Amino acid sequence: MQIGDIAIGGDEFVVMAGPCAVESERQLLDTAESVARSGARILRGGAFKPRSSPYSFQGMGVEGLKILSKARELTGLAIVTEVMSETDVDIVAEYADIMQVGARSMENFSLLERLGTCGRPVLLKRGMTATLEDLLRSAQLIAASGNPDVILCERGIRTFETATRNTFDVAAVPVLKTVCHLPVIVDPSHAAGVRSLVPVLARAGVVVGADGLLVEVHPEPDKAVSDGEQSLTFAQFDSMMLDLEPYLSLRPNADRLYAAAGGLD
Ligand code: PEP
Ligand code: MN
Repeated sequence: MQIGDIAIGGDEFVVMAGPCAVESERQLLDTAESVARSGARILRGGAFKPRSSPYSFQGMGVEGLKILSKARELTGLAIVTEVMSETDVDIVAEYADIMQVGARSMENFSLLERLGTCGRPVLLKRGMTATLEDLLRSAQLIAASGNPDVILCERGIRTFETATRNTFDVAAVPVLKTVCHLPVIVDPSHAAGVRSLVPVLARAGVVVGADGLLVEVHPEPDKAVSDGEQSLTFAQFDSMMLDLEPYLSLRPNADRLYAAAGGLD
């Protein structure tokens, strides 16, 4: 899948990084420059935020989208940002290179249908209680509505385990890669919920054959308005990228994964 000069789903391992939410121009531009220097190709940052409490910061909205596009101009990074509502699809598509559908919206079927004609690739996150079949059905709806460019994202699911925010389903990657042709990325940040576990889960994603990563990075994680506990500092992100380097050559391609799995019934 081609996003400007970035090919995702092929030989390149594509890293998307940035804050959970766009908080200010300074915060985003500093993060963009830093993650670009460390090797990220795509900048993430929510302008419309799905929050579990109505009293939490809900995002900067259109002002946040404008800051994202300024960061693209300055750094050359492509932009991925969440769209929560059908009524925001046109405005988000005006600024974003990739439309993110969050875990909470994976079953918002009217949003998915509308994304079929948005003219941009869609990053579809797995719902917290969604099976892989559910995820694929949502991807099929976007495709059947006119948009075959869907990137699947494993971001952890809800289980009885409480040591991590979500349970990272590492098997999701080879399963999805063997049953469909879509790119599959992993989000170790929302899976882990704590920054200390992010690099090791990212590494796991690489060796099971993911096509890329979505990682939260913040200039001052302890002051972040959302998801600070799981956000990496610039230095931690840079060292994660260096640590991943030797594992990239171990990344299996889909044919090898399929052979290893012996095919699926
Ligand atoms: C996010 O990417 O910041 C986010 C809200 O993720 P998820 O939808 O996976 O919870
Ligand atoms: Mn987040």
